[in-house]
Amino acid sequence: MKNKKTVLKGRYSAVILIAITAIVCVAFFILGIRRMQNIYSKQMYANELETRKQYLSDTVNNFIASIDLKRAEDEERYTSLMTKSETYAKEYAISYGDYSSGLAAYFDEVALQDCFSYVIIDSATNQVLYSAGVLSMNEFDGDVDALTEKLMYSTMIRNGTVTCIYGISYDYVETVLMNEISAECKSKEFKDGEYIWIEKLNQTDGGDDFATVLVHPGNPSLEGETISTNTLDEQGNAYNQAMLDGINGDGEVFTTYWYQEYQSDLISKKIVYSKLYKNYNWIISMGIPAHAIVEFVSNTEQENQPAVYRMIALITALFVAIFLLGMYFIIGNDRRLFHHRETLLKNEAHVDELTKASTRKYGNKLLEEKFLEYKKTGVSPAIMILDVDKFKGINDTYGHDAGDEVLKKVVRVLKKNMRATDNLIRWGGDEFVGVYNSVNKDGLYLLAEKIFESVDDLSISSKGEIVKATVSIGFTHFKPEDKNYKDAIKRADNGLYKSKSGGRNQFSILDE
Ligand code: GH3
Ligand code: MG
Repeated sequence: MKNKKTVLKGRYSAVILIAITAIVCVAFFILGIRRMQNIYSKQMYANELETRKQYLSDTVNNFIASIDLKRAEDEERYTSLMTKSETYAKEYAISYGDYSSGLAAYFDEVALQDCFSYVIIDSATNQVLYSAGVLSMNEFDGDVDALTEKLMYSTMIRNGTVTCIYGISYDYVETVLMNEISAECKSKEFKDGEYIWIEKLNQTDGGDDFATVLVHPGNPSLEGETISTNTLDEQGNAYNQAMLDGINGDGEVFTTYWYQEYQSDLISKKIVYSKLYKNYNWIISMGIPAHAIVEFVSNTEQENQPAVYRMIALITALFVAIFLLGMYFIIGNDRRLFHHRETLLKNEAHVDELTKASTRKYGNKLLEEKFLEYKKTGVSPAIMILDVDKFKGINDTYGHDAGDEVLKKVVRVLKKNMRATDNLIRWGGDEFVGVYNSVNKDGLYLLAEKIFESVDDLSISSKGEIVKATVSIGFTHFKPEDKNYKDAIKRADNGLYKSKSGGRNQFSILDE
């Protein structure tokens, strides 16, 4: 057990090292995933920002297209109104009696259109007879062009000395259009409470009242107020100046500004698209709060989170499985190695170092087993005791090493004459015990003959001389009256003694 512990202890450091490596791998993996998620989130934010910007510019440009459409409709209406009114005014003035009064009466009482501005002049005296709208005046200086310039649509009617200039002013057309647009702005509903607002650009070079708010669905109280390029947002950015620079440059611009949320301390960012509608110098804008994008990204992240967790769990489980498998093999291997060593050690304890015969300790156990087996079955192996003759003399004459060599070679030839299931035990010194399975008395003659022959064939050279050895043998089998294997050994020993005293180099069988 001591050995086993030492072997495994040596491996603990490897196990800990692998465990730490596995933990570090998992940690790096999770960090990697986090980093990837960050990159992915940033990318998602950038993509979403682009999409929303596109949405802003598309919405504003669609709105501008709808203004163009309205203007075209208005133009058609005004043109038709102008054509009809000329005919009707003339007819009405003639039927009225006094031409100039008839015209004035037509515009004031019949046409009932607040769109018309007019001036009726006596061209002989340049005296202003009647006037209204943008053409209201007391005196006329004779400059007709100056009058028509105020009108987007204009017509002149002459009859005798009466000259009438009338039409529809630029301001009127713009105001009507603006009222329509304003109503549309306020009725339009976008997601996240977004809206379109309109400012009128007064000064392209900026200033404290560079623009006037015309429509502001988000805060109608601002309508009519002027705005300044010097205004700073919550982060100190002159966002109106940035907007004006963009408008002056490309006619359209994306700006961002920081504002304090309504009834809150929260400072938020808004991304705004502004485009100049050149015909009326209107700046048409729309914005979205940046937190809408952040919310979108974090919602998407949250949706993906379970999948990410599943992946982390899967990879971690995989690491753990690989780690455990590795441990299983390392520990299993150690166990096998330990068993292998243990077997080797056991063998070492069982085998005589010099001759490679079994040790006496092992031999005792073996003979005990064999005797028990005999008691059960009644079948006995042949027991042999063999001793080298005059071995002391060999040692004395040729030296101890030559003696060792003789012992080794004797064992080798004895083993040659044995089956794999037989055993040879070094009983002590030059004395050996052989256990031969299934050899009866007759077989012993043959065995003895073979042993003598092969020992006789042995030749060991030492100091230029051939060392010759002979052996004496005593054979026996277990007998029913034997109390234990030692009785049989004693009998075989007696046989050996008999062979020795009989002159050596011979065998005796003591079975009776
Ligand atoms: P006998 O024929 O009566 O057996 O005469 P012997 O000389 O062989 O007498 P014995 O068997 O008593 O002598 C055994 C000798 O073997 C005694 C010892 O010095 C020697 N011996 C014992 N072990 C070894 C060994 O491992 N190597 C060598 N070289 N000699 C050994
Ligand atoms: Mg001897």
